[in-house]
Amino acid sequence: MKISKKDALMWFRFFAELPEGETLLPHQQEIAFAVLTQLEDAAEARHAALEAQVPGLRSLDGRTLFVGDEGNFPQGCRSCLTGTGLSAVRRTNRCNLACPFCYDYGCLDAQPPVGEDLWEIGGTKYRTADLPMLLSVSRRPSGICYVYLEPFMEIGLYYEPIRIFAEAGVHQHLYTNGTLATEENLRALGEAGLSELRFNLGATNCAPKVIEAIKTAKRFIPRVGIETPMTPAFWESFHARKREILATGLDFINCAELHLGENNLENYLGESLYMYRQGYLSPVWSREITLRLMREAAEENWPLVVHDCSNRTKFVRDLHGKAQEGGWFGASSWGSEFSSIPYGALIPALEDDTLPFVTEEELPEGYRPGDIVL
Ligand code: SF4
Repeated sequence: MKISKKDALMWFRFFAELPEGETLLPHQQEIAFAVLTQLEDAAEARHAALEAQVPGLRSLDGRTLFVGDEGNFPQGCRSCLTGTGLSAVRRTNRCNLACPFCYDYGCLDAQPPVGEDLWEIGGTKYRTADLPMLLSVSRRPSGICYVYLEPFMEIGLYYEPIRIFAEAGVHQHLYTNGTLATEENLRALGEAGLSELRFNLGATNCAPKVIEAIKTAKRFIPRVGIETPMTPAFWESFHARKREILATGLDFINCAELHLGENNLENYLGESLYMYRQGYLSPVWSREITLRLMREAAEENWPLVVHDCSNRTKFVRDLHGKAQEGGWFGASSWGSEFSSIPYGALIPALEDDTLPFVTEEELPEGYRPGDIVL
């Protein structure tokens, strides 16, 4: 059913008014899903037009896109997309910032603690002293990454686990907003054996202090890059300091397609959003910014990789992760961050004249206004 934008808007206005928790009847669900597909097609058409303008666009085993020398492609992403998966290690439950795009926006002070001297790995808690035992019993992962909030809030705790995993030959990457990075702690991370450090440069709108920290990190850590959600604010601040950023000698820029959940959605209401395969909800402009940055990098021959960490890449990542766990054919952990379709949040996209539906048809009989749609 190639529902028209006008009909889609009428139905979504109606669905948005329904009492919370009320489930749609099967024919109404068909309409809702048809609208999501139409919006996804419209967004993908805009993305495809920009993709076609990126010279030298390359694919990593059909799983993700990038430009630049493959030797600079982040090993942590390679491990997650083609290795034994994304093995996340959680520890720090605090952050010193409150970014509008943060998945924990509005509840950054209420993140559950992992526990004193504990590391959460694969859903289980370990003391640092348990890590050699874990490595001896389990299949060694190709890579691990330290996730959760801002690790530099207590970076001294990280050196010993990093040393243990480094001795076992495990690739390790860590994310930071960079505001608490110093020459001393960056050197200590490098000496402990951290393989890759990723700066969320959008968290500070490309603050000079963080750009300086990227440069310092390059002296001590083998691979250093940026990983940040692509937003118009990042695009502007990046271009205001582009020369200094590229002069840091960084290896890659991972352009994350911003996705929204219950916590950060309020900061992007009114933007044109779409859902990817009924999963992540994203502003259409986020991947457009990625593709514009990739084009610029390719045309100007930046000496680094720019990687399209899109919703599709994450879709593939989840599929690959499940396959590594021995999941059945097609199994994936991909899904929506919302308990039901956020109809109201999708209305601006349906009102956006710059986002036309690719093809439209009249609604079939039984689905039209005035019909009883059950
Ligand atoms: S720096 Fe990272 S964890 Fe902290 S608020 Fe920003 S996105 Fe969230």
